[in-house]
Amino acid sequence: MNIEQTYKDAGALLEGHFILSSGNHSNRYLQSAKVLEDPKRAELLAKELAIMIKAEDIQIDTVCAPALGGVLAGYELARALGKRSIFVERKEGAMELRRGFEVTKGEKILICEDIITTGGSAMEASAVIEELGAEVVAFAALANRGFCQRKGSMVAPKAECKLPNAVPFFALEDFEFAMYAPEECPLCKSGSIAIKPGSRN
Ligand code: ZN
Repeated sequence: MNIEQTYKDAGALLEGHFILSSGNHSNRYLQSAKVLEDPKRAELLAKELAIMIKAEDIQIDTVCAPALGGVLAGYELARALGKRSIFVERKEGAMELRRGFEVTKGEKILICEDIITTGGSAMEASAVIEELGAEVVAFAALANRGFCQRKGSMVAPKAECKLPNAVPFFALEDFEFAMYAPEECPLCKSGSIAIKPGSRN
């Protein structure tokens, strides 16, 4: 399965001139919700990710996703792994486990996102789960932006990565984009105007 082509086909990998959430500019942007718009495609991506995870012989009881972005990816991955699916969500800024979802002491949890940039939301979800006495045994995402090192990748982790070294991180592909400070952006210099796609567009 060609992951980059799959994202392109889904309209999830945009080309143009974008303002990233960091404020830097780039000629590429991942609108990762778009890749899950087609349930069949979502199922195939999750199955591919499940194959990588199953090869590692890690005991997993439950997949937990940080809402909203991780929910569909987490649900599809749980289905592919044959595990329970739960999510944590923000209430007044802080992540919580709500809606009657529970974890037991020692339960083995995989935290799943649609995309991992620096891993901030994944780590917030992890903190909620560990506070409740369960154990985070792995992280997973469909796409990795290249700040953290996914298992099997030669792309070295960057200082911005918040995921712990001791816990494996699985992802289908590294999406490393050229990034420019706005004042040094060659696209700006050529006269083009950057747009901010974000989750609202
Ligand atoms: Zn620019």
